[in-house]
Amino acid sequence: MAKITIVGGGFGGIKAAQELSIDSKNQITLISDQPNFIYYPSLYSTATGYSYRESWAPLEKIFADTKNVKVVIDKITKVDPTKRQLVGKSKSVYRYYTLVLALGNTTTYFNIDGMADYSFGIKSQQEIRRLQAHLFEDMSDGSDDEKNYIVVGGGPTGVELAGALGEYILKLREYFGIRKKSLRIGIIESSDRLLPRLHKSSSKAATKRLKKLGVRVTTGKAVERLTENTIIVAGKELATETVIWTSGVAPVEFYQKNQKWFEFDKRGRVVVDDYMQARKDIYVIGDNASTPYSGLAQTALHDGYFVARRIMGSKAKYRPKLPPCVIPIGRKWALFEWGLLRFSGRAAAWLHTAAGFIGHRDVLPLSWAIGSWHARTKPELRLPDDLKF
Ligand SMILES: Cc1cc2nc3c(=O)[nH]c(=O)nc-3n(C[C@H](O)[C@H](O)[C@H](O)COP(=O)(O)OP(=O)(O)OC[C@H]3O[C@@H](n4cnc5c(N)ncnc54)[C@H](O)[C@@H]3O)c2cc1C
Repeated sequence: MAKITIVGGGFGGIKAAQELSIDSKNQITLISDQPNFIYYPSLYSTATGYSYRESWAPLEKIFADTKNVKVVIDKITKVDPTKRQLVGKSKSVYRYYTLVLALGNTTTYFNIDGMADYSFGIKSQQEIRRLQAHLFEDMSDGSDDEKNYIVVGGGPTGVELAGALGEYILKLREYFGIRKKSLRIGIIESSDRLLPRLHKSSSKAATKRLKKLGVRVTTGKAVERLTENTIIVAGKELATETVIWTSGVAPVEFYQKNQKWFEFDKRGRVVVDDYMQARKDIYVIGDNASTPYSGLAQTALHDGYFVARRIMGSKAKYRPKLPPCVIPIGRKWALFEWGLLRFSGRAAAWLHTAAGFIGHRDVLPLSWAIGSWHARTKPELRLPDDLKF
C-alpha cells in the first residue's frame, strides 16, 4: 500500500488525488486550509451575478464516492523533511511518506499605498461576497452621483471582469429603478498594453472590444495610491469607491516560513527536477513549481496528472505543455490564443463555454459540472440570503 499526502485542495492537488485514487492500493490524505475547491477562472462570472456553483464546490462532495481519499481541513505551517512530518495550524502533526505540495499563489499589492485596505478582490468567496454586497449597496443608496468602477490589472482576470461588469451594473441599475446615475467603468494596466503576456494582436482586439462595451482603457500608467474614495494614477486623482484589484500574485507564506528546505527561482517559485521533485519524496506542482507555463489552471491539472503517474511508477520526464488561452469579454465574444493560432468573436465564445464545461468536468463530479454549466445561463439579480442588508 502506498501512502501519499497532498497539501492543497486546488486544481493540482485535486487532480493528483483523483488520479492516484484510481489505484485502490493508494491511501491519499488531502489536506487543505479551506473546505471548498475554488474554480478561479469563473470567479469573475460569480462576481457579476452568476451562480456560485460555477466557482466553488465542497471538497467533501468531490471525494464523496472516493474511499481511498481522506480530506483534512487544516493549514500546514511547517514541513520537516528530516522527520518526514508536517505541522498544521491546528497543532496536529502529519507523518508523510510521499508528499505533494500544491499550495497555489496569494495576492500581493506591490506595496501600493492603501490598496490592501480599500480595494476589492475577486480571489475568494469572501471577497466576491464583499464586492457584491458593496455593488448592491452602491446602487441602492438613492443618490444620482456619478460612479466610477475601476478594475486594476489588465491581465486575463481584469479584462474578463471589466467586460462583464458593465452589463451587470446596468442590470443592477435597472433592477433598482435608477435612471440618472451616470456610470463609468475603467481598466488600468501599468504596462503599455492589456494582456501583456499574449500576442500584440490579442491585446489590440481586447482593447477594441472593451472600448465597444464602454470601458475606458488606460495603459502605461501605474496606480500610485488609493484612499477610501479616490484613486491616484500617474499623479491624477479620480473619485471612486470601487477599485477591484486583479493584479499581483506571490507564493503563499508557507514557502517563506520553510525556505531552508527549498531552492527558488527569481519569481519565488520552487525549483523542481525533471520529475517535479523539489527534494526526495517531495513533489511541488502547479503555481508553486518553476515550470514554463505555471500560473495557469491547465498547467496545474497537467502537473497533478503527471505527478500521480510518477508516484505510481512512471519513468517519463516532465514535459511542459502550452495551454490554450480563451478570454471571454462580455457576452457572446471571446479571444482565443494558442501559439500561432489566434482568433476572436462568437466562435471563440462557444469554445470558452465548451472549455468551461470540460474544465469543470476535469475536477468536479459530473452532476456538479452539469449544474455549473446550467447555472451559466441564469444570472441572478439578488444577493444571496446571507448578504441581505
Ligand atoms: C481570479 C483568478 C482567475 C484565474 N483565471 C484563470 C483562467 O481563466 N485560466 C487559467 O488557466 N488560470 C486562471 N487562473 C490561475 C489558476 O487558477 C491557477 O493557476 C491554479 O488555481 C493553480 O492551481 P494550484 O493547484 O497550483 O493552486 P490552487 O488552485 O490555488 O490551490 C491551492 C490550494 O491550496 C490551499 N492552501 C494554500 N496554502 C495552504 C496551506 N499552507 N495549507 C493547506 N492548504 C493550503 C489553498 O487554499 C487552495 O485551496 C486564475 C487565478 C485567479 C486568482
